[in-house]
Amino acid sequence: MTQASLKITEIFYSLQGESSTVGLPTVFVRLTGCPLRCGYCDSEYAFYGGERLALDEILARVATYKPTYVCVTGGEPLAQRECLTLLNMLCDAGYMVSLETSGALPVDDVDPRVVRVMDLKTPGSGEVGRNRWENIPLLGDRDQIKFVICDRNDYEWARFKLDEHQLASRVAEVLFSPSFGQVAPVQLAEWILADNLPVRFQLQLHKLLWNDTPGH
Ligand code: SF4
Repeated sequence: MTQASLKITEIFYSLQGESSTVGLPTVFVRLTGCPLRCGYCDSEYAFYGGERLALDEILARVATYKPTYVCVTGGEPLAQRECLTLLNMLCDAGYMVSLETSGALPVDDVDPRVVRVMDLKTPGSGEVGRNRWENIPLLGDRDQIKFVICDRNDYEWARFKLDEHQLASRVAEVLFSPSFGQVAPVQLAEWILADNLPVRFQLQLHKLLWNDTPGH
């Protein structure tokens, strides 16, 4: 029997740049491939190529860093079915595991020990039609929902969805991020304050520290 494997773009150790664990040392496992094409995508280098690795080999490479936190990201990690097995194995190994997903694919089979950080794609992303709204009732108080805001229209849309789906009381964190180079961070911060929204404003820490260099 062939051992299960995944196409991997990179495995690296850095500081978590986003979400509620921002700033914590974390091993990132970046899976290759994504069926979406968001206009602001900063990981296009993960769309193609990659190295096929057995799941045991991925676990062995993660272990070399002796991490507490492991983040499985992409691309869109759930586009490869064996991602679900990898998540199980990482949890069984005792890591605090998070999954970054576009929100376009089902999240119900993800190991319940995993923190799911799910995007809701705004109109400005160009991929709003890919949101899988059936995912929202599947999320709980361990999970996080992220909006990347490109302009005022996106902000209004996100604010409406926040209210429509009562997101702040459904998940642990609702994250609002300014799309890099499209909306000034201070502008988004002021909109949030003016409306007193129950969301966490975030900047991408890894971009502030290392610009957009792969491997961080
Ligand atoms: S879902 Fe993520 S990886 Fe895929 S195109 Fe959008 S931003 Fe890029």
